[in-house]
Amino acid sequence: MSDIIERRLTTTPHYLEQELRALLRTDPKVLDWLDTGSLDGIWYWDLEQPENEWLSPAFKQLFGYAEDEMPHSPEWWQANIHPDDLPVALENFEQHKADPSHPYDQIVRYRHKDGSMIWVRCRGLMVRNGDGTPKRMLGAHTDVTALKKTEEELRRSNKELDDFANIAAHDLKEPLRASCQHASFLLEDYGDQLNDEVQRRLQRLIALNQRMERLIADLHYFSRLGRSDEMVEDLGVEAAIAELRVDFAEALHEGNAKIDVSGPLPRIEGHKPHVMTIFRNLISNGLKYNDNREKLIEIGQVDNQSWDSKHALVTLYVKDNGIGIDEEFKDEVFQMFKRLNSEKAYGGGTGAGLSFVKKIVERQGGQIWLTTEPGKGTTFFFTLRRSTKG
Ligand code: ADP
Repeated sequence: MSDIIERRLTTTPHYLEQELRALLRTDPKVLDWLDTGSLDGIWYWDLEQPENEWLSPAFKQLFGYAEDEMPHSPEWWQANIHPDDLPVALENFEQHKADPSHPYDQIVRYRHKDGSMIWVRCRGLMVRNGDGTPKRMLGAHTDVTALKKTEEELRRSNKELDDFANIAAHDLKEPLRASCQHASFLLEDYGDQLNDEVQRRLQRLIALNQRMERLIADLHYFSRLGRSDEMVEDLGVEAAIAELRVDFAEALHEGNAKIDVSGPLPRIEGHKPHVMTIFRNLISNGLKYNDNREKLIEIGQVDNQSWDSKHALVTLYVKDNGIGIDEEFKDEVFQMFKRLNSEKAYGGGTGAGLSFVKKIVERQGGQIWLTTEPGKGTTFFFTLRRSTKG
């Protein structure tokens, strides 16, 4: 028996519940409303005489049939359920019969009268005799066709995008590499016959090609971020920062910089390479876009009281004492390939780092935002999933 039903039997029902139960017995409009107003059909099956099954008007209507066009028997649905889904429904039926706590609940496909396909979430409850023998089965249908169509459309367009990104990454790289090779060949083998201007232009061509290769690689990486097959694990943020300290050791030394961790950092749930990408990009930007003689990165957790952070999400921040960002570009910096500063002033970059970070955070149901003061520094706030292991 399900927990809910058990609780119902052992606690005194609310007076409105009692009233509703009585109404269900006395007023036929209540069942009619449940059938058409809240569900997409009800069925009630006589398991002692299985050729009899009452199918509600909404049940028949969902599949395009009038009341007198479908007999009250299981014949229609058994003939019109998708052959791949029938075994699933039968398996759940048998399991629910053997163990009432196993839910009879599945999404199955049916053939509509006009030949189209209808997706239905079908749930049922076996009604038993005092000795537990199955007597009846009460079931309900919910039409999920629109949802399934959107899901299929999304899957299809994701696949198209994926294919496009793969082809672009592959096929665009080749001509780029080839033109880079031609330019290098001219420079190396005929350099002494070329005047300065031609040499300069060839070098520029090579640099542009290399940049284009990096942009394509970033675009490809972006398109593949957040795939559902990425492994999620329990991670300590402090340990992740310790690993990054090693990676950044040289940059920290050269830039007279340090990373401070403020207070204890939480354990989170995430795909480790992605979590590292978030911190790596934010730390590296904090060091790169920074003219301070003593560069400082501070990482911490925001002790916020919103229900979100209390339950599933935790808010972290990465703060720097760098050049800051103009208020008007606070959102734009997260756009793909958006750069605010010249390459000459602050070194190379494709302008993709923050769009990776945003995509990773949002794919986990989180958010990212920033506060900044030009000339003083920037703080990036973002949410990650709190570890369920505490
Ligand atoms: P990239 O660093 O490759 O240009 P990002 O997507 O990481 O790409 O950043 C986009 C732009 O946002 C940068 O070019 C820079 O102008 C600005 N930016 C990012 N982080 C900071 C920061 N911490 N302080 C100041 N400006 C920043």
